[in-house]
Amino acid sequence: MKRLILLAATAIFSLSAFAQSETPVVKYLKGDIRRAAFNTHSYEFDDVKDTPAPKGYKAFYISHYGRHGSRSDWGGPQYKKVRDLLMQAKEQNLLTPAGDSLMREAALIYQLHNDMDGRLTPRGVREHARLAERMYNRFPEVFQDGCKHLRAVSSTTPRCIVSMNGFTARLQALQPDLDMDLDTGEKFYAYIARGENNTLIARTNKALADYRKTFQWDTVAVYKTLFTDPAKAKKLIPDAYDFQNAIYDCARVSDPFEIPDNMFRYLPFENVVHFHELNYLSAYLNQCDSKLNGEIRIPRSQELVDTLISQADAVISGKVKKAADLCFGHDWPYLGLVCYLGLEGVSERYTVEEAADKWLPSYFCPFAANLQMIFYRSEKNKDILVKFLMNERETRLPALKAVDGIFYRWNDVKAWCANRIPKTQIVAHRGYWEGNAQNSVASIRKAQEFGLWGSEFDIHLTADGVPVVHHDQTIGNLDIQQSNFEDIRHNRLANGEHLPTLAEYMAAATRGRECMPVMELKPQTTQEREDELVAKCLQALKPAPAPAGIPAQYARRASEPTKVVFISFSHYICQQLAKKAAGYTVQYLGGDIAPAQLHAEGITGIDYEYNVIAKHPEWVKQAHDLGMSVNVWTVNEPKDIRAMRDLGVDQITTDKPALAREILWER
Ligand code: MG
Repeated sequence: MKRLILLAATAIFSLSAFAQSETPVVKYLKGDIRRAAFNTHSYEFDDVKDTPAPKGYKAFYISHYGRHGSRSDWGGPQYKKVRDLLMQAKEQNLLTPAGDSLMREAALIYQLHNDMDGRLTPRGVREHARLAERMYNRFPEVFQDGCKHLRAVSSTTPRCIVSMNGFTARLQALQPDLDMDLDTGEKFYAYIARGENNTLIARTNKALADYRKTFQWDTVAVYKTLFTDPAKAKKLIPDAYDFQNAIYDCARVSDPFEIPDNMFRYLPFENVVHFHELNYLSAYLNQCDSKLNGEIRIPRSQELVDTLISQADAVISGKVKKAADLCFGHDWPYLGLVCYLGLEGVSERYTVEEAADKWLPSYFCPFAANLQMIFYRSEKNKDILVKFLMNERETRLPALKAVDGIFYRWNDVKAWCANRIPKTQIVAHRGYWEGNAQNSVASIRKAQEFGLWGSEFDIHLTADGVPVVHHDQTIGNLDIQQSNFEDIRHNRLANGEHLPTLAEYMAAATRGRECMPVMELKPQTTQEREDELVAKCLQALKPAPAPAGIPAQYARRASEPTKVVFISFSHYICQQLAKKAAGYTVQYLGGDIAPAQLHAEGITGIDYEYNVIAKHPEWVKQAHDLGMSVNVWTVNEPKDIRAMRDLGVDQITTDKPALAREILWER
């Protein structure tokens, strides 16, 4: 409330001038404009109330994931820019009193943040200490009555380690006989902080660039407020957008150092709203279950979810004695986790426009944001119950039926998590070629960018032994098997690319975002040629070095058996691959042999037309029982995609990856 009065008293731009309709997000910002800092907003401690546990139940274990607390920022140069521009204006006597105070505040921001990249501030430590204290006071029975052992692990980043220390030190002070293990390391980082990748960011940036075009920016008011001569100021600072963005950046990092002045007041409210939107939408689209990226993002939380479940199960079964598991990490894994669980509000699936209106960023993800799962058990009833606290507020999991309001059966939660990610994967048939050419390099790149599990392509062998990627046996009226490479290489695909050799194709297939190359070896006229094709395809798997300027991890190694799938209509080719590429997935395409027979020959999968599988649904189980994989082609109709999904096939090969994804993710 104090902040609100301060805002009302000092606001230079009247809120009432803001014509935009009052969306939930705008209303939330008007409650406290500092919330426009989004994920650099300090934690808001509300008064929390607990729904009484069902009769006979008592809390016995807590699983806590906490984001580090308030920290400094990396924006030294950005803050210096604001300060320096205003100092130049001052030398020319161009500053109004408001301009003068902004200059001093920007200088302070620069001084506080410069060379303090991402360090926890004293406020951040206190946030964690208070969180620990509140947890202890809400659930004293967990710490006092049960075993007194706790385990805490942290991301390797110093601000997370210091957060862990702040949290656990307060618990220790509250109850000195608690026995705590604290740890950090790359091993933990792998699941604590697994998150975004460049592909997601590229898609998000494009969507936001389009969205930004719809904004109306006030580029005039700021000159009038800060400068005595707006025309002269404009010569000194020609880019009003860039300048205001830098002021916004200063304003959004003032909370961690508890600066009482509200720097957002120097900007028109609607501009603050716009900058805020661009900031938090980027996080929403990259980290949450958005309609743009959700199906790619959510599976990345699997390891963290599995870890938290197995930690809880070990305590429930009595194998491990622990009062709590505490985990200290970052905003993106925290968002991925709460969205994987499907908690109310935060995990809604929105478009960019919907999220801009409805998703409450700093409510969900301020500094020190946290998820707590409180576990309850009773002497009489075997059901373990759990309740979810997001930023300490009781939260629902709408996909499940609750017991007594906000308590859920742990077994229901686990079953929900086990089915959260579709078991059936999508393979783009001849690449994701919509808008491109089939079997083009662009088509496999598109499959990678769309986050597909795999991308199929066809391989022929020329008369002089060059493997090329193409579907039809002929190209430009020439039969590939009977032509030398020199005679066909000039042919262009429909999108203008030249006919790719297998080597060229694999160079694209094994870089960029992970997407399984599904290599179809076309039957040849003789067994000798089939042997040669097999040998050359195996040769093509040899690891290629990363090109200059590309990080080594992007030069993936298709030579690993788990990184490639072979398919063929030639039974002989499959048999040869089974012998020469032991451990690789080899799926026979013919549709005329039962899985058991193929298994006896060492062939590890089937890839049959979906009608064949519809007639022989028992082959899915037979294959799975033998440890074989089941792929089906070419499944383009919703009813067929649903039917194959329901039969539990491992992969669906389709010309319509977007449609298949929509259907597989139906809840
Ligand atoms: Mg094919």
